[in-house]
Amino acid sequence: MVIGIIGGGASGMAAALSAAENPNAKVILMERQARVGRKLLATGNGRCNLTNMHAAQRGYHGDDAHFSDCAIAQFDPASVREWFAKLGLYTVIEESGRVYPYSDQANSVVDVLRLALMQENIELKTGFDVQKIRVQDGKFCVSGEEESVICDKLIVACGGLAGTKLGGSMAGYKLLGKLSHKSTRLRPALVQLKCNWSALASLKGVRANANVQILRDGALFAQSRGEVQFTEYGLSGPVIFEISRDVGFGEGKWECRLDMLAQWSEQMLFDELIRRKQRDLPTDELLTGILHNRLGRVITKAVGISANQASSMLTDAQLQSLAHAVKDFVICVTEPMGMDCAQVTAGGVCTDQFDPQTMQSRLVPGLYACGEVLDVDGDCGGYNLQWAWSSGRCAGLHAGKENV
Ligand SMILES: Cc1cc2nc3c(=O)[nH]c(=O)nc-3n(C[C@H](O)[C@H](O)[C@H](O)COP(=O)(O)OP(=O)(O)OC[C@H]3O[C@@H](n4cnc5c(N)ncnc54)[C@H](O)[C@@H]3O)c2cc1C
Repeated sequence: MVIGIIGGGASGMAAALSAAENPNAKVILMERQARVGRKLLATGNGRCNLTNMHAAQRGYHGDDAHFSDCAIAQFDPASVREWFAKLGLYTVIEESGRVYPYSDQANSVVDVLRLALMQENIELKTGFDVQKIRVQDGKFCVSGEEESVICDKLIVACGGLAGTKLGGSMAGYKLLGKLSHKSTRLRPALVQLKCNWSALASLKGVRANANVQILRDGALFAQSRGEVQFTEYGLSGPVIFEISRDVGFGEGKWECRLDMLAQWSEQMLFDELIRRKQRDLPTDELLTGILHNRLGRVITKAVGISANQASSMLTDAQLQSLAHAVKDFVICVTEPMGMDCAQVTAGGVCTDQFDPQTMQSRLVPGLYACGEVLDVDGDCGGYNLQWAWSSGRCAGLHAGKENV
């Protein structure tokens, strides 16, 4: 039995190793880039956050948010750690539940997978860009520009559109589309938000812990708490990433509301500012020691307090508006950054056309899909790779069974 797998990313490699557990199966892994796991190398800022110990309980989205449940229950975060340990990768769990390789290097993850793929019943074909799939007499003919592969079962693991510079593309959606599989609308998720605020350039690199609310046409749409990073174009950081999938969703006027001193009430901050006024601190130092210096100065300026003013001359109303701005700063969000900057694609191939227990197509027997190409996206923090490993293993194990 020959099992073809299109895509040598996280889910494709998990599928290949799992299918090859049947010694009678011959696995052909086709990857269009020169080497496998290119996107993996860039994950977790080069550290690869390969799973999250909380991934089994929550954290996935899509038209059917529970489609991922079966595969993740079958191969949960603890099983992923054990599986990698058997492959030779030692991992550590951070307090947040995020799991990283002990070496802190994403290439360790790729290396153990690459070495594991070197087995007799797995053939790796890199530089093989699949362009066409034909189904004939119950077999699949998979063609690249120069070569074709005939297989009994086929797993599409082409990934999503996110991270275009790292290999993200429309290929999987198109290949499956030709086999009558429909896709939902694709949107960037886990991505920075572009904002319209002239002071951003001067805040590049500044971080703040904040309560973040996203408003759509003035109404609360989403909220979270954590570290916000200011960038040249807008806002970034885990908490912004989490909210970003919703902003890609539709029309309307989007705003981001930041409470940059959540542990203090506005009154407490106002009282502190009164004390600072009594010390006649320079106005551009009024927030020094409370916020990042650059952020403090920008907010002070934004409420119309000039650096040349003596703070002893400031009115209560001015100090009140400064306290209010720290607690409730509103920035206009224009749009999420594009797919090239996104970590994951929200949307994908409709999951109701696949069996969640096996990842097999309900339309084409012997055809499977796994990973990001399906309409499943996870939260920030290892959830997307967990989905890639779980769905890849599920597809590989089931495709590897002889009489299914
Ligand atoms: C910068 C960045 C950082 C990230 N960090 C994290 C993180 O720390 N933790 C986390 O959980 N998730 C992270 N993600 C998300 C995660 O990497 C993906 O969700 C995951 O890699 C998806 O796995 P996949 O196998 O579905 O697709 P991919 O890993 O993208 O693999 C798909 C493979 O298919 C190949 N391919 C595509 N079309 C064809 C074709 N026609 N023929 C042959 N081959 C083809 C591609 O070249 C690619 O190698 C990050 C993503 C990015 C972009």
